[in-house]
Amino acid sequence: MVLRNIGIFAHVDAGKTTLSEQLLLCAKAIRAAGSVDKGTAHTDTLPVERRRGISVKAACVRLSWKGCDINLIDTPGHTDFSAEIERALWAPDGAVLVISAAEGIQPQTTLLFEAMKSAGIPVIIFINKCDRDTADPERVKKEIRARLTPLAADAEDMTALTEAVAEQDEELLEQYLSGGTIAPETVLRRVPALVKARKLVPMLCGSALRGTGITALLDAVVGMLPPPGTDKAELCGIAFAQARDKALGKGLYIRMFGGTLTARDRIVTEGRFDPLTGARAQVENKISQIRDADLSDKGVLNAGEIGIVYGLTGLKVGQVIGSAELLPRICAPGRLRTPVMTVKALPEDPEDMQRLTAACMELSEEDPLLHARYVQATGELQLDVMGGIQSEILADILSERYGVRASFGAPGIIYRETIAKEAHGCCAYTMPKPCWAILDFIIRPAPRGSGVTFRSEVDGRDILPRYQHQVEQALPIALSQGRLGWKVTDVDITLVGGSHHQWHTHPLDFIVATPWGIQDGLRRGGSVLLEPVWEMRIHVPSECVGRIIADVNGMRGEIVSMHDDGEYTAVTALVPAAESMDYSVRLARTTSGRGSMSVSLHSYRDCPEGAAHTAPRRSVDPLDTAKYILAARNALESGIFDTDDPG
Ligand code: GDP
Ligand code: MG
Repeated sequence: MVLRNIGIFAHVDAGKTTLSEQLLLCAKAIRAAGSVDKGTAHTDTLPVERRRGISVKAACVRLSWKGCDINLIDTPGHTDFSAEIERALWAPDGAVLVISAAEGIQPQTTLLFEAMKSAGIPVIIFINKCDRDTADPERVKKEIRARLTPLAADAEDMTALTEAVAEQDEELLEQYLSGGTIAPETVLRRVPALVKARKLVPMLCGSALRGTGITALLDAVVGMLPPPGTDKAELCGIAFAQARDKALGKGLYIRMFGGTLTARDRIVTEGRFDPLTGARAQVENKISQIRDADLSDKGVLNAGEIGIVYGLTGLKVGQVIGSAELLPRICAPGRLRTPVMTVKALPEDPEDMQRLTAACMELSEEDPLLHARYVQATGELQLDVMGGIQSEILADILSERYGVRASFGAPGIIYRETIAKEAHGCCAYTMPKPCWAILDFIIRPAPRGSGVTFRSEVDGRDILPRYQHQVEQALPIALSQGRLGWKVTDVDITLVGGSHHQWHTHPLDFIVATPWGIQDGLRRGGSVLLEPVWEMRIHVPSECVGRIIADVNGMRGEIVSMHDDGEYTAVTALVPAAESMDYSVRLARTTSGRGSMSVSLHSYRDCPEGAAHTAPRRSVDPLDTAKYILAARNALESGIFDTDDPG
């Protein structure tokens, strides 16, 4: 199969969408190039994208070049849409990283480059906007080699390319150093393997707006980036985006890494957690249709290909079909960046609350990190967001797609909490009969960033293995809200004692008992509030650095590194999110728009003494035992005691 699956990544405004348009035009997949500035680009199809000239969703288009099919994924660049960018990293075999010749490496560029590295994706760099007066491609190439990777080489300069290839090849290096000439064909033949192994990053120059350098880029995509591996027979595919069709309904963009999907296949995937069996339900769906990225009917989706699959209503973005072990990289939402802010969604017309809730639920199926939920206790509809631009765009989408006018309240920080000191957590669930579940945990504080670990020291005769399994299954629910109301993390939990009862234990008793025992321990051990800390990458004119350092200190932050290249300085700092929610706006002001920044979640750290932030409890407190037992029993009976939504 002659195919390339390629993602185009870059910071916002580098020219990704304009470049996608030119690639489509050059390959004759479209007759006339649309324009971002006129709102007619082929990959920006949402009304909000066209009106604002900013990509919000990843879009997959199809073109063909010199007998090779190319699936091209255009992605958003703004850091608020990192969830979408991250999902676009799950699918491709190679990437084009676009860097503006005028602005150079931006904070988001380094972040993306690192993300591609950890995903193991080979990269070609396209230096765009070379037509601009202020463009300085040579300076940008130097900057790339100094700051992104020394393995970057000018692909349009045969001497530079030969040197870079020779450096990776002992035999060629000897030949080169001893003054022998190396034939260009020899060099070019070695390039694809080196690119694939990420030992070489070819750089090309051009202008998407003027249409220069486009054929060279297409040649490089086909000639230097790797084809998909297609040798795996075992089924493996990942749903990385959602599409919608008026007639066919929900469709999922699926990248197959192994096996084959065929229309009318029945696909079994994991559904909700079933407390009765302690396992996940098996959901069966039938594929109604499979389409190519250009929407033509396809019928079959083979290993290595990307297609839109309809009929899999039970499958969600982020879920794997078949064996997850075959994925070439970890595909889990939130690795690039997780939201650390919650906003309240308010309908303009109170009558619209139900419609707004339904719309937000649907949007969070497409973007699981949004995590829309209706909080019974406060009667609020909440969503998790990355930043202000994302809430603005969400409001636009709600009105354009669903006809619901809504606004978002001021963002609140999503804190976490941990236990202050080691404590026992006990629960004796023996009343009201019939029931019997006795548990004794030890909960210990664990190092920051270590998450939750669990082990049991209890004999299977005291608590049957299947009940111990239930305890483990119920932990996410038990830890979804600690004593301060936030998700509990960085704890080491050991089950040290307890018992079941031969006659009295009801099948679900240990699921009811676990949150109770855990909360008892958390109460005894006391709580520590943890706050999200961003790794902030700032790029500013060097004369502004003094001011930036003062800002970082003023925000309880610390400088991690500084790189001064004369005109500009790249600063990396760790700053609590709570102090810096509006910093990108302030930065633009203090640098007269010449500074830029990008953030990623670095860690959750202890919040300074005195900060008292609590979150309202979303369900009955397990320590309010009489009320809790009643509620838990009811919930279990109606099947809503669900670990899919542990907060
Ligand atoms: P994206 O955010 O990376 O998708 O960037 P867009 O494709 O939306 O382009 C952002 C802006 O840069 C638009 O106004 C484009 O017209 C402009 N632009 C894109 N490529 C070039 C180029 O090669 N030269 C110049 N001068 N402008 C460009
Ligand atoms: Mg774009």
